[in-house]
Amino acid sequence: MRQLQRLRVVTQQIQDQFVTLTTEQQHYLSRVLRLRSGDRFLALLDSGVAWLAQLEEGTAELLEPQSVKSELPLDLTLVISLPKGSGFDDVVRQVTELGVRRIVPVMSDRTVLKPSVNRHDRWQRIAGEATEQSERSQTPMVEEPIDFSRYLNELEPPKSDDLRYFCWGREDSVHLLSQLQTDLLAGDQIDMSIGITIAIGPEGGWTDEEVSRSVKAGFVSVSLGKRILRAITAPAAAMAIVGAVIEAD
Ligand code: SAM
Repeated sequence: MRQLQRLRVVTQQIQDQFVTLTTEQQHYLSRVLRLRSGDRFLALLDSGVAWLAQLEEGTAELLEPQSVKSELPLDLTLVISLPKGSGFDDVVRQVTELGVRRIVPVMSDRTVLKPSVNRHDRWQRIAGEATEQSERSQTPMVEEPIDFSRYLNELEPPKSDDLRYFCWGREDSVHLLSQLQTDLLAGDQIDMSIGITIAIGPEGGWTDEEVSRSVKAGFVSVSLGKRILRAITAPAAAMAIVGAVIEAD
């Protein structure tokens, strides 16, 4: 299974078990992946299901559903204050590889970047490419940027199966690893029905008001260790810790 090449496909392209390939997809399969008519690949549907597919002229036949076990079993969301420059491109790529399901870019009080209109399409495309590269079956959803205060206002009150953490490099914050071990492990079992949201601040950090509003919205402050990480390093560190807690034997 692992040696099969992968291609993302949207459900609207499928009719009667055949995928109508776009010109771009045909080019990718034949010129980049060097597949020929009759060769098989893995079609990753936007519904999260993967199918064994066989390439034909301009189309691909869906042969049988496949089980792909590369997804983290719980719902992981990254809320991130948009970093400067093109740093967010790297963040999207890295956290996709690490298993995030939803990315919410926010403008907090100290956010410097004001995103241009066409950025969102670019971020979603990067998430798609990283999904293929990391052999995931589900592409994370990158949401439109939103003010952090509005994001908090629109959040529903936390439920018992909803864990919210905001990363804050203060000495008295508990390490994310310890906090997750406490919150996730009931006995020896990890509760996989839980949703986890992790918020990362901007280069200048969260303001005191943002901290207190986050706490009111059910976020618990956590540390990522004794060193202060760059705003574009912290998301990958946080996601890697979540993955390690869930997947380590
Ligand atoms: N001087 C800023 C401050 O006081 O928060 C540093 C901000 S840091 C460059 C950017 C973001 O990464 C922070 O807002 C925080 O969310 C996260 N971060 C970086 N290092 C961290 C650490 N050791 N523990 C928890 N969060 C950290």
